[in-house]
Amino acid sequence: MKSAIGRFDELVTLLRSRKPALFVDYDGTLTPIVQNPADAFLSERTKRLLEEAGKRFPVGVISGRDLSDLMGRVGIGGIAYAGSHGLEIAFPNGERKQLVNEFHECQSEVEAAEIELRLLTKDFSGAIVERKRFGVALHYRGVAADRIGDLLKLFGEIASRHQLLRRSEGKMVVELSGTGANKGTAISEIMTHEGISEETHLPIFIGDDLTDEDGFKTLKNMGIGVIVGYVPKLTSAEYYLRDEEEVSEFLEKLVDATRGNA
Ligand SMILES: [Mg+2]
Repeated sequence: MKSAIGRFDELVTLLRSRKPALFVDYDGTLTPIVQNPADAFLSERTKRLLEEAGKRFPVGVISGRDLSDLMGRVGIGGIAYAGSHGLEIAFPNGERKQLVNEFHECQSEVEAAEIELRLLTKDFSGAIVERKRFGVALHYRGVAADRIGDLLKLFGEIASRHQLLRRSEGKMVVELSGTGANKGTAISEIMTHEGISEETHLPIFIGDDLTDEDGFKTLKNMGIGVIVGYVPKLTSAEYYLRDEEEVSEFLEKLVDATRGNA
């Protein structure tokens, strides 16, 4: 595994005849992981760098958050956004795409799962149920360590009753959501819509979590996957960055490397 900063010269070589196309996850990548997901905000520095990047080359923020929540938090124009793991996309020109039909049949399943999860959390102090537009998440960062096993076992039972929903795991969060999209399909949708190809661009995806692996896989043979923080044994990313501070540093290097390209 190579550091995306330590081996930045390799990227510069790859960027000699192409522009980057930068895709980034939000939580744990652009922002530090926080106890309550509602408190994850972008630093002024990272925001400024993303804005600068967006003026020079294509940028997309790809998240499990609802699209409107994500756009409110990042708050810059001229870039693409994918929310709900790719079920809803906003392109830089303002055009929207929603995979609502794919989701529609799952809606009542999500509602039923939410009720069961809310009942479950009554017995687990510190557990937070977050209803999203296209799914429901169970955050357990605040749950006592010796109770997490029991909580996840009961979550597994609920998940198995809702086979229509896709189960995904993140850092101290598990989620049941509508199927039909993932972070990899979101990146492909944006690339197609924006006319980004590997001849003209080097796609780069930076993410920190299991759901980001779909993005790394999509870029496997045509771009660069960068994983942030803990590096799991099985990852499709080839580069790493230590934390969101290094993500900022990497953004700065990328912006600098494309100066004069704008
Ligand atoms: Mg993340």
